[in-house]
Amino acid sequence: MNCPKCKSTMQPHENNYGIKISKCGACKGMWFPDGSAGVKSALPVAKDIDTGVNAGLDEMKNINCPECSGSMIDMVDSKQHHIRFESCGKGCGVFLDAGELVDLSEYTLIERVKQVIGG
Ligand SMILES: [Zn+2]
Ligand SMILES: [Zn+2]
Repeated sequence: MNCPKCKSTMQPHENNYGIKISKCGACKGMWFPDGSAGVKSALPVAKDIDTGVNAGLDEMKNINCPECSGSMIDMVDSKQHHIRFESCGKGCGVFLDAGELVDLSEYTLIERVKQVIGG
């Protein structure tokens, strides 16, 4: 499988959490075959999984699904509008750029703290 952004090889990412991810060897982008459910399950351990630095490929448009080569749909996180990710129109999975998973997890954490302190 090749990275939908930089076309380098993506390898299954070994982790102790049982989360299905493939990771690009070059830009460190992450492919979640389980889609947003996979992303959610990876949030608590984001720092262990998302170790790359954003390669600046966020603005890339019209990328194709690494599995079915179909068009990917540009999604914007409903809470964090600067986080944009790509989802296969046929549901093969979701692609996140390096750094975006950590970004998402930190937001989730802040929200939780706010709920606790009532902020
Ligand atoms: Zn890549
Ligand atoms: Zn697809």
